[in-house]
Amino acid sequence: MAYPKALEELVRAFERFPGIGRRSAERLAFHVLRDPEARELARAIDAAIERVRRCATCGNATDHETCGVCSDPERDRGAILVLEEPRQVETLEASRTWKGLYHVLYGALNPAEGTEVRHLSIHALVARAKDPLVREVALGTDPDAEGEATALACLEALESLGRDELVVTRLARGLPAGTAIEYLHKGILEDALEHRRAVRGRRR
Ligand SMILES: [Zn+2]
Repeated sequence: MAYPKALEELVRAFERFPGIGRRSAERLAFHVLRDPEARELARAIDAAIERVRRCATCGNATDHETCGVCSDPERDRGAILVLEEPRQVETLEASRTWKGLYHVLYGALNPAEGTEVRHLSIHALVARAKDPLVREVALGTDPDAEGEATALACLEALESLGRDELVVTRLARGLPAGTAIEYLHKGILEDALEHRRAVRGRRR
């Protein structure tokens, strides 16, 4: 017996979410049908898609042309912290451990899942690093295999600029391997940032 068409479409919509299989999608779909606030969810999804976009400079989520970090005159414009996902910017901002700007790659290299260099905003990062004001790019991709491969790809791309004075750093090891940045405690984040090591040039 098949579900009514509209219900089947809802289940399939949930199934497209990361980490959601058929069973979970069915459970969520039935939950929505019972939830008196579900229309609120539909409106919130609509509004978010309508209003939230990527910052033209760093890729962070914003409802303006440029995000709050990039347009803040107090930020250190000479240092860019590279992250995989925009939600990680939120984590860093909440911990108040980074005073520079960010660059969001929107993913990490994962050949098995078809994510290659051209899918990430590495090109835009290199374009930003051309600015002589930028003295450091800190690679804050996750401490897992994909994050390490992505950090290496960023480093290689930045090398091609031939800017001898540009320092590239990687967040300190000691980050629990395999954890995503956004799950780390403030203390560990502070430590990883404070002890970031230069993988190119010398950190001053
Ligand atoms: Zn921005």
